[in-house]
Amino acid sequence: MTSVLREAPLQSESSETLDPKNWDDIRAQGHRMLDDMFDYVANIRDRPVWTPIPDDARARFRAELPSQPSDLGDVYREFTDFIAPYATGNVHPGFMGWVHGGGTAVGMLAEMLAAGLNANLGGRDHMPIEVERQIVEWTRSMFGFPSGASGIFVTGTSMANLMAVLVARTTLLGASVRQSGVGDEGASLRAYTSTAAHGCIAQAMDLAGFGSDALRCIEADRSHRIDVAALRERIASDRSAGLRPFLVVGSAGTVDIGAIDDLLELSSLCREEGLWFHVDGAYGALGILSPVLAPRLAGLENADSIAFDFHKWGQVPYDAGFLIVRDGDRHRQTFAAPAAYLRRETRGLAAGSAWPCDLGPDLSRGFRALKTWFTLKTYGTEKLGAVITRSCALAGYLEARILAEPRLELLAPVQLNIVCFRYRSADADEVNRNIVVDIQESGIAAPSTTVLDGQLAIRAAIVNHRTDTCDIDALISAVLAFGAQRSSSDDGLVLDVERSPPLAM
Ligand SMILES: *Cc1c(COP(=O)(O)O)cnc(C)c1O
Repeated sequence: MTSVLREAPLQSESSETLDPKNWDDIRAQGHRMLDDMFDYVANIRDRPVWTPIPDDARARFRAELPSQPSDLGDVYREFTDFIAPYATGNVHPGFMGWVHGGGTAVGMLAEMLAAGLNANLGGRDHMPIEVERQIVEWTRSMFGFPSGASGIFVTGTSMANLMAVLVARTTLLGASVRQSGVGDEGASLRAYTSTAAHGCIAQAMDLAGFGSDALRCIEADRSHRIDVAALRERIASDRSAGLRPFLVVGSAGTVDIGAIDDLLELSSLCREEGLWFHVDGAYGALGILSPVLAPRLAGLENADSIAFDFHKWGQVPYDAGFLIVRDGDRHRQTFAAPAAYLRRETRGLAAGSAWPCDLGPDLSRGFRALKTWFTLKTYGTEKLGAVITRSCALAGYLEARILAEPRLELLAPVQLNIVCFRYRSADADEVNRNIVVDIQESGIAAPSTTVLDGQLAIRAAIVNHRTDTCDIDALISAVLAFGAQRSSSDDGLVLDVERSPPLAM
């Protein structure tokens, strides 16, 4: 191998760099891409929310590994013709399925700048890490956490929840658990959350080595808030059976209907019982920025850790999950690992310890902080809070329209920004399942489904800052139209939507 390398001619002017020979060409191409993307976002309402992928378009992505170069313009044309038209749709104001953020042009620009710097935020002494530390400080002040709290960007709340379980584990069992594993002692540990909690909590218990059976899912009330009395009883009975409760996970915004647990009551229970109090605030925690919602999050400031996403209600482009831990020492004790190649210095590029790689399992990490920093600075928290307040007002508007329409039935109290309802019909589950798919395929809107008390519900989560009353009206009209059609017969689509041409080059 070495001899082969030695024999390769080494020219003084490298022909192997990936930089363009002519920067003017790529500059012009780049400006076109930027303009097209601004047009795409600016005119997004003219497009279908989502478009089913035609077979021939999908087949293009089963191609051979390219060994030879292609012209950037040709590759970009494939993007405009075959990728952009078939995106998820969450940039569109009619996207209400699942809890997805809408992104912003500001976040998009920041992503480009971050890619240009190509910073690795695992560690070392450079300003991108100071930007991330700035966000940690801002997050700390937003949630009323003490100095000494630590925080880190991760992919999303699923990862942040897993990391929180690990911090709680290490806190209870001591740092030696990192060498010895959870062992016999770990087998008696129990965690608690509600039946309305997100599935990633059970997965976190599984991945952390406890097994998902070690998670007790406590019943929730009609509003999907954890029954704290039942939780208290379960903790007591587990203790008397010789088990060791160690963690309670509260929800600030359940994924089904947007319920917020009584965080104040949960936090005092955890304090009395000596349990780690983690909050899954994936999208709801940022409700703290809304003066209307903030009082309902009382108790969040007492959490030992909070997982949340800037990419949902914060409108930062994917991905931008975050974990904040009240006691930064415990956080570091869970993840920091000495390694010779990660040696710290007090001067030079290897200074600036502690590094983000001491706070999570990732070593190489991108610059998620930049798009978040741009978003927070450009809009300010008042404006971002107003967007959140408005999502809830729009959910209220949708609720009022449902209540005023005898053909529709509200299936859960609207507590935040999520509305669950259905079209009244015989065989309602089947009819409503079809209505949702019909609407998705029509491109008019993108609701999703959930199951509440055994009934299939149409679920509309209003998260996107672009969503307006006209989008709610379009959803209602579509549900009524497809509902009428589905309950009379079972033919294909009748409604026609205008489709815009593919993204211009
Ligand atoms: C979205 C969500 C998650 C998962 O977050 P990801 O960022 O998708 O990993 C967890 N919990 C709740 C309540 C959520 O809404």
